[in-house]
Amino acid sequence: MELLAHLLKIFPLIVLRYFFFAGIAYLIFYVWKKQKFTFHKIQPKYPDRKVMNREVMYSLLSLGIFALIGTGVYWAKISGYTKIYTDIHARSAGYFIFSVVAFILLHDFYFYWVHRLMHWDRIYKYVHRIHHLSTNPTPWAAFSFHPIEAVLEVAILPIMVFIMPLHPLAIFIWVIFQTVLNVMGHLGFELFPSGFTKHALYKWQNTSVHHNMHHRYVRCNYGLYFNLWDRIMGTNHAQYDAEFEKVKARTAAAHQPEPVKEEINEVPEVVVS
Ligand SMILES: [Zn+2]
Ligand SMILES: [Zn+2]
Repeated sequence: MELLAHLLKIFPLIVLRYFFFAGIAYLIFYVWKKQKFTFHKIQPKYPDRKVMNREVMYSLLSLGIFALIGTGVYWAKISGYTKIYTDIHARSAGYFIFSVVAFILLHDFYFYWVHRLMHWDRIYKYVHRIHHLSTNPTPWAAFSFHPIEAVLEVAILPIMVFIMPLHPLAIFIWVIFQTVLNVMGHLGFELFPSGFTKHALYKWQNTSVHHNMHHRYVRCNYGLYFNLWDRIMGTNHAQYDAEFEKVKARTAAAHQPEPVKEEINEVPEVVVS
């Protein structure tokens, strides 16, 4: 009964989190400020409503699976099986920060290799094809997974709570971080400035162009948060830097997206963001 109550409590929160972050991004870039940002669009075409409906439906299914597994973790916690600690003072502030950073880095490592596994021909069509139905993703595609992929994606949480002491706040920070970065990866717009992918420090951060190219070309750019494992394993698309600069250099004259029918009265600024 307690578990059911927990499930009924967290599912709406998980759904709310998705609609909040993906919804804000969608409203800003695809509705309210569409004209202003249209020259930043990575792929000039805008996906139609049917595509976005599918992305939302599969995302909701994934969120249901996340809620179920989250409830399983809650059960393991109250049964004393996990290393979750609830008294934040039980460990130092330094450890708390370390745990958040370690969680994010381990998730980045986990995702890269699980993602490459999902691209293995023998399982791709059963596990990962749904996510790749979006060849021109929108923020709604952030959790658009086949149920098996949803399990694989969220499996990092039960793994982490068994191997590393984590405070619920550290888990919460990870949840928000991964949601924001996931929405950014599927945004369809590039926000980072020109030169970002060649900068000594910033090049280690993944960009929206990076994941957008994964959706377009499929067999490249597997990484999640950081451009670490793709660089180590040589799986970045050969044209990644060039494509990034192409998107950033696009001007009003060079970029006229098809579905935008309205007259554009003001000359948009050259993209420098
Ligand atoms: Zn993929
Ligand atoms: Zn994706």
